[in-house]
Amino acid sequence: MEFLKVKSLEEAKKLALERLRPVGEVEEVPTSEGLGRVLAEEVVSPEDLPGFARAAMDGYAVRAADTFGATLEEPVALRLVGEVEMGTEPTARLRQGEAVAIHTGGALPPGADAVVILEETEASPRGVLVFSPVAPGANVIAEDEDLKRGERLLPSGHGLRAQDIGALLAVGLTEVRVFRRVSVGVISTGDELITPRERPRPGQVRDINSYILVCQVQELGAEAVNYGIIPDDQAELREAVERGLQETDLLLISGGSSVGSRDLTLEVLEELGEVLVHGLAIAPGKPTIFAWAKGKPLIGLPGNPASALIVADRFVAPLIERLSGLREPQIIRRPQLRATLTKRVASKVGREEFVRVRLVNGGAEPIPAQSGVISSLVRADGLIAIPAEREGLEEGEEVLVELW
Ligand code: AMP
Ligand code: MG
Repeated sequence: MEFLKVKSLEEAKKLALERLRPVGEVEEVPTSEGLGRVLAEEVVSPEDLPGFARAAMDGYAVRAADTFGATLEEPVALRLVGEVEMGTEPTARLRQGEAVAIHTGGALPPGADAVVILEETEASPRGVLVFSPVAPGANVIAEDEDLKRGERLLPSGHGLRAQDIGALLAVGLTEVRVFRRVSVGVISTGDELITPRERPRPGQVRDINSYILVCQVQELGAEAVNYGIIPDDQAELREAVERGLQETDLLLISGGSSVGSRDLTLEVLEELGEVLVHGLAIAPGKPTIFAWAKGKPLIGLPGNPASALIVADRFVAPLIERLSGLREPQIIRRPQLRATLTKRVASKVGREEFVRVRLVNGGAEPIPAQSGVISSLVRADGLIAIPAEREGLEEGEEVLVELW
């Protein structure tokens, strides 16, 4: 047997994304619990923010016209008539020649149209001396300066960040309509697998993939359902896959995705639906399957933990984002930096390779990795990609490191 439907990562993503539709169901959640959720509607500000003119600095609320002509030598003296208490609305109208002490964020009294900052003033028996003129509006935040009533605050399909939650709450939107979370099922397959609590006998391995994948799914704001370990048994695997298909929006099956006699994922997926990709032209991660059954996407991932993790990151994450209703991928935006490769790395033409690197003194040092080794990913500071058409990268070459 061999890989029959090998695709580049880009081709496979395109093919999969064309089929996927966002889950679309809408629910209302408290805004304060909305981090990472995807807005199901455009949000328009129902109010002006801050809603009243307020001081941007500590100083004195004044009528700007009263300060015209003030200089260091000939300051203008204003009569101090009070102080604006924080959290209260001043009602007394400021008259010509008057000043009111005000603190950052305090509400401007009626009649005042500017704030003279404390540093430009001096208290004296003659009143408040102002040493330089201010223009109308100086050091004042207008009542609709932050947000205007009726202004679009956030578009539909936006993934909520901390600052977005703050802005929604600032204008009193304590509930938001968001798409329901995408639900992703995770199955680990392999006769050799035991749970992490058990002690492996020779030949056995602790299942880590299901946990890695659950974490990756959660990082994307989706909900993970871990179906645990399924032995290399076609009937049992089929049953688990059917259950997962019923209960979740996307099913991940780690292990058994290659072409050996104990690799049953392909057969099960062919029985249940249509296999659209078998084999990605990437390393690590070639034994990847994309299939479609009962209107839902299924992905067979390599059992090798490092490969599974990289495929989940490169291939699965964008699909989850699409299902979630995000208008543009944004949750996994990792910082990238340019670095110089400290050593040549070889690679095969015809497949895109992902190399783990460590950052050492501004250089990117490739970590020699047998693909089976999880420790190489733990030690890595990031990944670099070698394009399919390159036969490796040279020492001293500038590379783009995606940090993670
Ligand atoms: P497979 O893709 O099923 O041929 O598995 C490839 C390698 O990954 C084998 O050495 C497996 O023992 C190992 N492996 C498969 N599944 C897991 C898992 N869930 N956790 C850790 N290692 C695994
Ligand atoms: Mg296996």
